[in-house]
Amino acid sequence: MADDLPLHWILHEIDEEAARHDSELVKLPELRRVQDQRVAAERRRVDTSRARMAELDKQRRALEGELDVFAASEKKFRAQLDLVTTQQQFEAVQHEIAGVEGKRSEVETRVLTIMDEEDSLRGSLPALEEALAKATRESESVHARLAGEEEVLREKLAALDARRSAATGRLEPAARARYERARTSRAGRAVAAIDKGACGACFSGLSPNALNEAKRRDKLLLCDGCGRMLLLPPDGSAGA
Ligand SMILES: [Zn+2]
Repeated sequence: MADDLPLHWILHEIDEEAARHDSELVKLPELRRVQDQRVAAERRRVDTSRARMAELDKQRRALEGELDVFAASEKKFRAQLDLVTTQQQFEAVQHEIAGVEGKRSEVETRVLTIMDEEDSLRGSLPALEEALAKATRESESVHARLAGEEEVLREKLAALDARRSAATGRLEPAARARYERARTSRAGRAVAAIDKGACGACFSGLSPNALNEAKRRDKLLLCDGCGRMLLLPPDGSAGA
């Protein structure tokens, strides 16, 4: 049994390292999501601006159509002016012309307002497109870096898996089963180091008796707090 202790310490170190790599791996999706969200936000700005420009273009064309109708109508009334024979008819046609001119002036003002907004949108679009291109480039670069980091982490984890298999292969079947069960049920960390008189995983303090037992280094203890196997670090390491 005492021979198992160094093996369990090796497994402890393997699992702690794997847990550190795992904790880096689980951060990756969020880091990727942040990049994707930034690109999506910049794309929305460009799309919103373009959609507004398309809408304004449509409105302006409709108003320009109205202006054509007003111009034709005014032309018709002006032609009538040549044909009127009485002052009353003259004033009536003049009144029609003034009405059309009033409406035309109002629509012209709206067209100018639209053209102002179109100019402003056209002017700001290149900056929005550049911001989108920059976010896309930076996102691609971060994604590539994260993919590289993920590959390295997975390689390290695979190497740790291989070392773990080699170590567990040297355990008695019962000890191996106990270790594997604990590793599965304790978030990948079956064996905890005793650190400053407490479990290094859940920080439960050990009784003086338990500490003395641990110091004899002849059997594995179980943590009252988390159920992990407990070991003092080998002589020379920081410990209880
Ligand atoms: Zn514990």
